[in-house]
Amino acid sequence: MIDQILVNIQTLVSEGKKCLVVFDLDSTLFDVSPRIERILLDFAALPENQARFPEQVAQFKDIRTHHTDWGITNALQRAGLDGHHPEFQEAVALFWRHNFFSNEYLKYDLPNEGAIDYVHAVANAGGDVAYLTGRDVFRMGPGTLEEIKQWNLPLNDKAELILKPEKSMDDAEFKTDWFLAAQKKGYQKIYFFDNEPVILHLMGKKCPDVESIFFESTHSGKAEPPPDLPRIINFVLNQKGS
Ligand SMILES: [Mg+2]
Repeated sequence: MIDQILVNIQTLVSEGKKCLVVFDLDSTLFDVSPRIERILLDFAALPENQARFPEQVAQFKDIRTHHTDWGITNALQRAGLDGHHPEFQEAVALFWRHNFFSNEYLKYDLPNEGAIDYVHAVANAGGDVAYLTGRDVFRMGPGTLEEIKQWNLPLNDKAELILKPEKSMDDAEFKTDWFLAAQKKGYQKIYFFDNEPVILHLMGKKCPDVESIFFESTHSGKAEPPPDLPRIINFVLNQKGS
């Protein structure tokens, strides 16, 4: 599947046509579970939280996030923190929200398997690259640029980063509107990788000519992934059956 995309790009580019491959960042190119884990551990390391919630914080020594986690609930539940202490839940949720959507913790993200190489392979095949993310400029712009540098992802006149100008914008509307504009730029073919079913459903409605691929990692649970889309669990090339 993803191997074939590279072949298609090479073919079209050799015919003088333009191709674009668009990647979501969170839970598509990057596994955000190390970011979540770091935030939870930092919450537990703060003396004020240790004083306020001694029993709960003691259980944080066992806390581990999985790449399939959505937010903090799964990891807290696995550590035995089942939501029966509203004051604690509120404090940890607030701390998480403040730090997850910030520049400071993005350095803890890890690329999903094969992701960095695949983006380079797209660029080497002659495709244009776009990182299209629901992260917003103000809270996460500088950190996202750092992260792109940290992992040596291409960023140049053929590889651009697009962040939400306002955090209040709806991710699905923001992304599909961006594609409506991108479709006017003379691309023969546009591919799009994302992990969020809500976005992929709206893509099918508003931008049916874009070829979307569901990245199966974790998602909001607000919708099931569109059943007709191809799905992948990593970006490793030359896999059996791909
Ligand atoms: Mg995502």
